[in-house]
Amino acid sequence: MIPRRLRAPAPGWVATADVVVVGSGIAGLTAALHARAAGRVMLVTKALLDAGSTRWAQGGIAAALASDDSPDAHYADTMTAGAGLCDPAAVRVLVDEGPQRVRDLAALGAAFDRDPDGVLELTREGGHLHRRIVHAGGDATGAEVERALLAAVAATDDIEVIEHALVLDLLTDSHGHACGVTLHVLGEGTRDGVGAVRARAVVLATGGMGQVYASTTNPEVSTGDGVAVAARAGAEMSDIEFVQFHPTALWSASGGSGRQPLVTEALRGEGALLVDDKGRRVMEGVHPLGELAPRDVVAKQMSRVMTADNVDHLYLDVRPLGAEMLARRFPTLLANCAEVGIDPYVDLVPVAPAAHYASGGVRTDLDGRTSVPGLYACGEVACTGVHGANRLASNSLLEGLVFATRIGAALARELPTPGEPWDAPGTAGVVEASARTELQRAMTEGAGVLRSAGSLEATAKTLRAVAERSDDTAAPESWETTNLLTVATALVNSATCRAETRGSHWREDFPARDDDHWRVRIVQRLDDSGELQAEQVAVR
Ligand SMILES: Cc1cc2nc3c(=O)[nH]c(=O)nc-3n(C[C@H](O)[C@H](O)[C@H](O)COP(=O)(O)OP(=O)(O)OC[C@H]3O[C@@H](n4cnc5c(N)ncnc54)[C@H](O)[C@@H]3O)c2cc1C
Repeated sequence: MIPRRLRAPAPGWVATADVVVVGSGIAGLTAALHARAAGRVMLVTKALLDAGSTRWAQGGIAAALASDDSPDAHYADTMTAGAGLCDPAAVRVLVDEGPQRVRDLAALGAAFDRDPDGVLELTREGGHLHRRIVHAGGDATGAEVERALLAAVAATDDIEVIEHALVLDLLTDSHGHACGVTLHVLGEGTRDGVGAVRARAVVLATGGMGQVYASTTNPEVSTGDGVAVAARAGAEMSDIEFVQFHPTALWSASGGSGRQPLVTEALRGEGALLVDDKGRRVMEGVHPLGELAPRDVVAKQMSRVMTADNVDHLYLDVRPLGAEMLARRFPTLLANCAEVGIDPYVDLVPVAPAAHYASGGVRTDLDGRTSVPGLYACGEVACTGVHGANRLASNSLLEGLVFATRIGAALARELPTPGEPWDAPGTAGVVEASARTELQRAMTEGAGVLRSAGSLEATAKTLRAVAERSDDTAAPESWETTNLLTVATALVNSATCRAETRGSHWREDFPARDDDHWRVRIVQRLDDSGELQAEQVAVR
C-alpha cells in the first residue's frame, strides 16, 4: 500500500498566481516562458535554479535540421528505438515541431556550435540514421541551454521565482481539479516553512527519478517527486518500468547520495578494459565486440558478475590508453576521478551501471494534460508516449522543449477555473528519511538492469517494510523518501506485470519480446485506499 493522503502541517502562508510551474530545467523554464501568455506565472523549484538534469546533458538535442534529413526520417528512428510502444501521434508532434523549437532556442540566445559559415553543426548518435544532434560547447549542451533559458526568465518581469521550494502535494478542489500546490520553502521573511500557492493550473516539470536507485547519473533532486505528487492526486502514470541504464558511471563509496558522472563509452572504444577486482576481463567470451558490445549487453553482463560476486561495482582499466591520450582526449574523466581521489594513470577506475533516464512518468495528452483536470506535466516527469520502451538518444531535451511549449499555448487558449481547495484530512505519515539507502539498494539489486519475478518480489518485500516506517516529523527529506517509495512501488508493480523483455526492460525469466501479449502500455493509478490499479492499454 502507498500512502495516498499524507499528514502535512497546515500552510503558514498563501501566495497566488494564474499558473504555477514546478521545476526549473528545460521543461519548466520553457513552460514558464510560454505560460506568460495565459497570465501571472510563478516558478517554484526545490533547490538552486540549475540543480536538475538539464545542465548535465552532454550530447545534445535531436531535430531534423539537415537538408538531407526530414521529420519522417526522425520519426522512423524514434519508432525503431521505442520497440513497438511509441505513441505515433506524440512522435509525429515531436519530430514535426522539433526543428522550429530548436531554432526558437537559438533565437533566445542558446549558442549552439556552428561551422565557420554560421551553419549549425550536427552530429550523429546511436540509433540516428542522420546527422541531427545540435550541440553546444562540444559536450556541454545542457549547461548552455539552461544558461540561455535562465537568462530569458531573468530578463522578464512577469515570472516570479521561488528557489529552495520543495513542492509537497497538489491542492485540489472538491471535484478533484488542480488548484495549486503545497510547498516547503527554506526562505526568508513571510514565505518560509510550509505554504501554499493557489493557481488556476499547475505544471509539473520535476524531471526524473534516478535517485530511486543506488547508482544514477541523475542529480540529487531527481527523486521522482512529480510522479508521486501526481499519483497521490489520482493521476495516471504510464510506462514506469522503462528505465534506461548507462553501463559505466563512476562509482564512489558515497554512492546513493548524489549524481555519478558518466564514464564515456569512447574510453572503451580506445581500448579500456572492463575488469573485476581480480583483474579478470568481464566481457571476454560474452560478445564478439567485447567491451564495445551494445550498452544493454555490457550493463547486463556487469550486473550478472556483480550479483555473482556480491559486489556493487567493477572496474575500468584505462591504463592501456597511455598517459598522453588520457590527458589529451579525456580531461573530464581525469577531473571527475581527481574529485574522488582516484589516479587513473595508476588505479583502476571503479564503475557501475547507473540509472540514466526514465521513459515513463505522468501520462499526458499531446498538450501536456494529465488525467487530473488543471494538472499538466512536461519533460522527464511526463509520459507523452514519444519514447515507448526505449528513448532515442537526445530526444529527451527535445521532448521537454516541444511539449512545454504546447502547454503554454494550451493554457493561453483556455485557463481552467477550479474551485476552492478542498481539504481532505491526511491519514498517513511520511516514511523515515533514513530508509532511503535501503530502498535504493533493494531497487538496484532486484528491479534494476536485470529483473525476474523472484528479484522483483524480494524488492517489493523491502518496499513493504519501508512503508511501515512512518515518521511524523514531515521533514523535507522524509517527503522525498516517501516519493521515492511511491515511484519505486509503481515501478516494481509494472515491471512484475510485464512478463517479457522489451526495450530497456529486461526480464531474466522472460528473455524474449512478446508482441502477441505485450504490445500494450501499463497504465497505473493509485486508488483511494492506496492500492495501485494497473490497466493494459493497447498501443494505437
Ligand atoms: C548526465 C546526463 C546526460 C544527459 N545527456 C542528454 C543529452 O545529451 N540529450 C538529451 O536529450 N538528454 C540528455 N539527458 C537527459 C536530459 O538531460 C533530461 O531528461 C532533461 O534535462 C530533463 O529536463 P526536465 O526539465 O524535465 O528536468 P530537470 O532538468 O531534471 O529539472 C527538474 C527540476 O525540477 C525541480 N524539482 C524536482 N522536484 C521538485 C519538487 N518536489 N519541488 C520543486 N521543484 C522540484 C528540480 O530541482 C529541477 O529544477 C542527460 C541526462 C543526464 C543525467
